[in-house]
Amino acid sequence: MTKKLIIIGSGPAGYTAAIYAARANLNPILITGDNAGGQLINTDKIENWPGDHTTISGFELMHRMYIHATKLNTYILNDHVITIDLKRKPFFLITKTKKEYTAHTIIIATGALARYLGLPSEKKFQGRGVSTCAICDGFFHKNKSVAVVGGGNTAIEEALYLSNIANKVYLIHRRNTFRAEKILVKRLYDKINNNQIVLCTNYIISEIIGDTSGVTGVKICSINNINNYKILNISGLFIAIGNIPNSNLFKNQLDMNNGYIKVNYNIHENSTQTSIPGVFAAGDIVDHIYRQAITASASGCMAALDAERYIEKYIS
Ligand code: FAD
Ligand code: NAP
Repeated sequence: MTKKLIIIGSGPAGYTAAIYAARANLNPILITGDNAGGQLINTDKIENWPGDHTTISGFELMHRMYIHATKLNTYILNDHVITIDLKRKPFFLITKTKKEYTAHTIIIATGALARYLGLPSEKKFQGRGVSTCAICDGFFHKNKSVAVVGGGNTAIEEALYLSNIANKVYLIHRRNTFRAEKILVKRLYDKINNNQIVLCTNYIISEIIGDTSGVTGVKICSINNINNYKILNISGLFIAIGNIPNSNLFKNQLDMNNGYIKVNYNIHENSTQTSIPGVFAAGDIVDHIYRQAITASASGCMAALDAERYIEKYIS
């Protein structure tokens, strides 16, 4: 039977859309994707979720959203969409476990995934010292030396977190100013002043060095003079250089801008409608600017309200 609404993704955007859609009696199905809970799932502390002045972990926050959505009778499917046809109506999709669904409306909340440096040596040592998640892999480097690359919120949070586990943390950044929030930069400098973090600014990584045991070091070159390089002896490299929107599935079907799905194709301003009526998008998949849990949730709410209006007008 054709569903009223399928939500793709289980980050803050997907769960918030589910909560609003369920309350509007749309009986949504939410497909979690391989990364259930989304980007926040491995974050140790969230300090900017309104109403939680004591810090809450990403796992805890996403678990609460999951419980909230299930209590309101969202049908949650632990599966991943591998094919979608948005050119036909009702929309049609197939999941990894070969389940087929049709739906009158779709909310895309597929978020983003970690960006990599693109070095051949990075691929070679992925999972053997190269990681994008300090919370998942930091423990393997207890009392060892590690490096983090990046200058945004993620890189600084990862470096701060690792400084409580590793005996030395290098933070490698290609500029000498940070785009991270000031509060985090201040904490970073406190750690630098306590010799817990060593800053390597205006450097890029040219090679990750290792052997059969995994990563043993990293070669970093000055951006001003490529011949000016250093080798840092480390057992782990944490890559925190931003993320890439998860939109491959929708390529050649929806209008996009650098991989971000374009919205606002509707009669009212600020809508979540994509270039195909009945297909809505929310969260990091549409947003290259704010990329926060709260903004993802807010647009998930908007997408559910937009889907509800669409169904009222064109389907029921
Ligand atoms: P995501 O959280 O990226 O979720 C995307 C979902 O889509 C996943 O569940 C995935 O499984 C699913 N999916 C993808 N493809 C498919 C498919 N084909 N089929 C089915 N499902 C699919 N923001 C803050 O406000 N505060 C913080 O403290 C904070 N800390 C962060 C720490 C880190 C390390 C990172 C990386 C980000 C952090 N952010 C933080 C940003 C925040 O995580 C994101 O803005 C937010 O998670 C975006 O939510 P989303 O729902 O759009 O997508
Ligand atoms: P980001 O803000 O996009 O920062 C990426 C960093 O990596 C930048 O410093 C960038 O350098 C650097 N970089 C990019 N490509 C690089 C490359 N090829 N080589 C070397 N360095 C490279 O990404 P993010 O830190 O992952 O944050 C993503 C989003 O999640 C942001 O919106 C952020 O606010 C949010 N977030 C929030 C929190 C929080 O609220 N506490 C925590 C984590 C993440 P340049 O600065 O030179 O461009």
